[in-house]
Amino acid sequence: ALNVEHVTKRFGDTHVLNGIDLDVEEGELIVCVGPSGCGKSTLLRIIAGLEDHTSGHVRIAGTVVDATPPARRGIAMVFQSYALYPHLSVADNMSLALKREGVAKPEIARRIAFAAEMLALNPLMRRRPAALSGGQRQRVAIGRAIVRQPKLFLFDEPLSNLDAALRVNTRLELASLHRKLGATMIYVTHDQTEAMTLADRIVVLDGGRVQQIGTPRELYEQPSNRFVAGFVGSPK
Ligand code: ATP
Ligand code: MG
Repeated sequence: ALNVEHVTKRFGDTHVLNGIDLDVEEGELIVCVGPSGCGKSTLLRIIAGLEDHTSGHVRIAGTVVDATPPARRGIAMVFQSYALYPHLSVADNMSLALKREGVAKPEIARRIAFAAEMLALNPLMRRRPAALSGGQRQRVAIGRAIVRQPKLFLFDEPLSNLDAALRVNTRLELASLHRKLGATMIYVTHDQTEAMTLADRIVVLDGGRVQQIGTPRELYEQPSNRFVAGFVGSPK
């Protein structure tokens, strides 16, 4: 579904990504982990087309998309900082992209009802973002991605502002959504439980390279370095 082929990224003299190769299967949920500043968000932004890479290629469904604008990549991304439109209600924030795409009204209503139910947003639909807590805004951002029903979801720490209970709940909902839609997902997190429970495979980035990629069990049993061992909680 997605191929990252020897992608490098420099900001001036800083080499952030030093040749990333990553093949994601259709319907797979890949969790991306690594120390702060190792380039996880940069990699997602490059895949989404929000940042240019220095060299290498990104391929989606077999087609090189290096020059394809973000809106035409069929991707929905949920950021660390989930920018909502401040002048629009929650419902309008969620439906805006669908209206632009010309989706029929009853279909928009159906998708929004589904997402609102899943993310417990029903009492908040008429409010504006300024009247929401950080966690509530984060759920709206997730809802806005879900209703677009993209082939590929990119999540950059989407649950980091939620309280413990809501975090567990939303994680389970995302896992079930992943099964239901069969959507391909790349999910960045610093949370070990999220990584171990959600991932089909975990990719570990460090030093601008893929240090290891494998199932949670493979990483637990055969961590390739100390960072991996520490992250997955392996005794080795
Ligand atoms: P975190 O876990 O803290 O979110 P990350 O792995 O997502 O970290 P990135 O945000 O991808 O890290 O940043 C990777 C590196 O690139 C960092 O050293 C950062 O300072 C640098 N960087 C990111 N964006 C820019 C930019 N626009 N200009 C210069 N340097 C940048
Ligand atoms: Mg980041």
